[in-house]
Order: sequence, then C-alpha cells, then structure tokens
Amino acid sequence: MSNYDVVIVGGGPAGLAAGLYTARMNLKTLLLDRGPLGGQLLNTELVEDYPGFESILGTELATKMGDHARRFGLEVREFEPVKEIDKDGSAKIVRMESGDEFRAPALIMAAGGLPRYLGVTGEKEYCGRGVSYCAVCDGAFFKGEELAVVGGGDAAVEEGEFLTRYASKVYILHRRNQLRAQPILIDRAEANPKIEFIFDAGVKEIVGNGKVQSLKYEQHGATKELSVGGVFIFIGFVPNSGLFKFHVDHDEGGYLLTDRNMQTSEPGIWGVGDAGLT
Ligand code: NAP
Repeated sequence: MSNYDVVIVGGGPAGLAAGLYTARMNLKTLLLDRGPLGGQLLNTELVEDYPGFESILGTELATKMGDHARRFGLEVREFEPVKEIDKDGSAKIVRMESGDEFRAPALIMAAGGLPRYLGVTGEKEYCGRGVSYCAVCDGAFFKGEELAVVGGGDAAVEEGEFLTRYASKVYILHRRNQLRAQPILIDRAEANPKIEFIFDAGVKEIVGNGKVQSLKYEQHGATKELSVGGVFIFIGFVPNSGLFKFHVDHDEGGYLLTDRNMQTSEPGIWGVGDAGLT
C-alpha cells in the first residue's frame, strides 16, 4: 500500500489539469489511467477550440498536457486499470487490477466514460468489422465507401464530417427531426455535399455477412435499408462511475453529482470532466 495526498483516476484533460494543479501545490499526487494519457483527446483528430492553440492534433495536445503536469512532479501510471475504489474511514483506497493498492485522503474521479451502445442486432457481432465508435481510429479503413453515422449530437455531426475525408458518402441518421449539435457544426455538415441527413430514423438492425453490408431503420412506420460498408455510432457516453464500492450520489445516467466545488456526496471525493455533473 502506497500513500499519497491525492489520487486521480483518469488521465484525460480533466485528470491532467487536476494533476497539474495538485502537483504544483506540492501535494504528492498519483494519476492512474488504464490506457495512455489523453482520454477522449486520443479519439479526436484536430482540436481547434482549445484556448491558446488555434489548431492542434488531439494526440499532440495530450502529450503536452502530460508533460506539463509531470513537470510539477505528478506521478503517472499508464496502462494500469483500477479495479475498485473503497474507503477506510476518511481515507480512500484504490485497488488496482494488478493487485497494487493506493491510499489517499483525497480522490479525484476523472475517469470519463465509454460510448453508449445502440443495443440493436448486429452491433456487437460486427464491432470491429464495420461497426465503430471512433472515426479517427477507423475512418481510414473505409476509403471510397458509403457510411452511416448514428446520432444527432456534436459527436455525430463532427465525426460524420470527418469521415467524408475517406467515405464517398456519409448518411447521418438521427432518431428525431432536430439535431442537438451546435449550429457551427451543423452548418459545416450541411455545406458538405457528401453528407445526407436522414431524420426520424430509428435504427433497428445492422446487417452483414462477415462484415457490415447494410443498416435497417424504421422511418414513419416503414422499414428501410441502407447499403453501407460501415456504421459509426455516436449516441453519447456512459460515465465510468461504477468503480466505487460504496454509494456516491449520481444521476440516472451514472454521472456523479457534484457541488459547485466539484465535490461529490462523499467528502474527499471530487468528480471532474465527463464523469461528473454539477
Ligand atoms: P450527446 O450530446 O448526448 O448526443 C447524443 C445523441 O445521440 C443525441 O442526438 C441523441 O438523440 C442520440 N441518442 C442517444 N441515445 C440514442 C439511442 N439509443 N438511439 C439513437 N440515438 C440516440 O452526445 P455526444 O454527441 O457524444 O456529445 C457528448 C458531449 O461531448 C456533449 O457535451 C458535446 O457537446 C461534447 N462534444 C463536443 C464537441 C465539440 O465541441 N466539437 C464534439 C463532440 C462532443 P436526442 O437528440 O434525440 O436525445
């Protein structure tokens, strides 16, 4: 068991920003991530809305954030998954899959989340064989093909536009007739001749034969089929708040509820980034 002043779970922008500040305040801080540092930044090709950087690659910004925080003494353990978070009085205990344990009076939950799954037939079966949740990771595999994107938020519209670099056509299917995405993203997508929106479309099935061949959806009572080589699903995010062995208040979506100081219902535990909700 090793002792720290602060343990941070999650090495995306929220965790790294927290680590930069705590380390700079001379608090002995450990940051844990089950993968490489960067979180969702690693699934974003170009970032053009981060103050101070007109345009920077997601991976480059992640590296810069990591280097910056380490410069103040942040200890980082990458590729080390947390198994569970427990408590012992006011101390928080972080148990790792590796068997290691860390103890600290303060814990910052910055573990983000995982993509929300559609839950339709064919989704799991064709995951990695045409079904994807990451345009930057998989877009290049679909050069010249027609693709479907599912969702109506920022991610669906932005990633849909990104996919037009490779795809001959991108259909964005949304379950309602009004997008949730920011107007600037919608304007760009609407101006892109390779993008076609399909509204009021409830995806029912992903069909394939070894790999994705089409997608079936229901629109105004009729079942329709779209011939596509890939289906990219961007319908939101499920926060990783299930690591706690004890109750911490959260909403129905699993987002940790926090006060204006980002503290959760458990004293000494803060929820930041995509894991928390004020
Ligand atoms: P989101 O904003 O929660 O949007 C999810 C979309 O998926 C909504 O349009 C929703 O439809 C749809 N949806 C949810 N469950 C569905 C289901 N079971 N079947 C079909 N459709 C479903 O999620 P997001 O787009 O991933 O964005 C997450 C956060 O990241 C947001 O805060 C967003 O602003 C941010 N983000 C920002 C940028 C940027 O600024 N450039 C880029 C990406 C993400 P309804 O509209 O009908 O609810």
